[in-house]
Amino acid sequence: MRSSISIFWRRKDSYYKVLLTRCKRCGRASFFARDVCPYCGSSDVSIVKSSGRGRVVSYTVSYFRTDSNEEYLPLVIALVRLDEGVYVTGELRDVEPAEVREGMEVEAVLRRYSSDDPYGLIYYGLKFIPVIKRC
Ligand SMILES: [Zn+2]
Repeated sequence: MRSSISIFWRRKDSYYKVLLTRCKRCGRASFFARDVCPYCGSSDVSIVKSSGRGRVVSYTVSYFRTDSNEEYLPLVIALVRLDEGVYVTGELRDVEPAEVREGMEVEAVLRRYSSDDPYGLIYYGLKFIPVIKRC
């Protein structure tokens, strides 16, 4: 990911928060933040922040290598149904691929995505991790 610092700053909310569009006409939520409801076309919408919690619906394990992801392979890419009823895809971290299960509770957290070079910007973004149960 290469972009200027100013562009990255302007887009930071979409990189660091799970933002949803909640329609005031039909009441449905959708992922991502936008000006128009994708279901009914209404522009009477509000942007809300998701809890970032949900459950794994399905997942796949990727061994596809790029210039910037070699240290993270294999990647677990999950389809997550958020508590708000919205489906999103994202990388699942802090879990071995063999431990991933459909229905697993996950939450969105900030994790490193990439860096421009060894001395450049380090980019962070949202990824999912299993929810840690506390007693
Ligand atoms: Zn709507």
